[in-house]
Amino acid sequence: EIKAASINHLDLWVRKGLPIAKYPITLGCDAAGIVRETGKRVLLSPSTSCGACEFCSSGDKPLCLKYQVYGEHRDGTDAELICVPAENAIPIPDTLSFEEAAAAPLVFLTAWRMMFTRGRLKPSEDVLLWSGGAGVGTICLQFAKMAGARVIATASSDAKCAKLKDLGADVVLNHAREDVAARVREITAKRGVDLVVDYVGKDTWARSLQCARRGGRIVTCGATSGHDASMDLRQIFYRQLEIIGCTMGNNKELQDALRPLFDGRVKPVIDRILPLREAASAHALLESRQTCGKLILRP
Ligand code: ZN
Repeated sequence: EIKAASINHLDLWVRKGLPIAKYPITLGCDAAGIVRETGKRVLLSPSTSCGACEFCSSGDKPLCLKYQVYGEHRDGTDAELICVPAENAIPIPDTLSFEEAAAAPLVFLTAWRMMFTRGRLKPSEDVLLWSGGAGVGTICLQFAKMAGARVIATASSDAKCAKLKDLGADVVLNHAREDVAARVREITAKRGVDLVVDYVGKDTWARSLQCARRGGRIVTCGATSGHDASMDLRQIFYRQLEIIGCTMGNNKELQDALRPLFDGRVKPVIDRILPLREAASAHALLESRQTCGKLILRP
């Protein structure tokens, strides 16, 4: 029984039409609620996989061929009830509200794989986080601080910059007003950052390459501004950059990602809570890029 669901960019892409999605479909891959039969408070693991193949059992490998995501390949969470395999219902502590729990699964999982499994973030490294106010960004930021990295985060307004500072960003840049590449050079004494996290895509990609240090890494898990980014390949080979693709994550990564949520070290960031019937306005809000953190739907 769903008590809260949350919105992700994935929902917007599926609504607009994805070749791999199954239609007609109920949107949404994030939820928390109660198991009707037992009364247990749980959150939903956003995907299913075979659990046995080489991709399921190793951290850094691409995902299982049988990987399916709620709200993309099968009916999702923007609903009052959903039927899921028992292993997808993960018990949550009483200290966590349903809204907080629903805000977590996809962004925690994605952020964990981006920062650690794929991004290989180490303590004392510098990270540039574009649009840190995005749902996944607010968690990347907190994971990076937990790991002991220095975080430079950008946002499009002073209000969002202030929120990112509160979340622990060491430096915040207003990317609507400041020359991010120049400021990053200045902050890192011309070196550039070790890891760039870019899910914005077209608008930021060329600058992401400029901001990475020689031999630096750029990790991408999405392209909210467009996927047909262009780049100067000389930047990649002369400066020996690594471009790393990343999506979702496996069960082990979800367990690792949720531990700091359950023990309170990392907090979900919620922009606002809306009734489920206002799902359409929630989509419009996310598209407007005015939000900071997650939008929650309550059935
Ligand atoms: Zn598998």
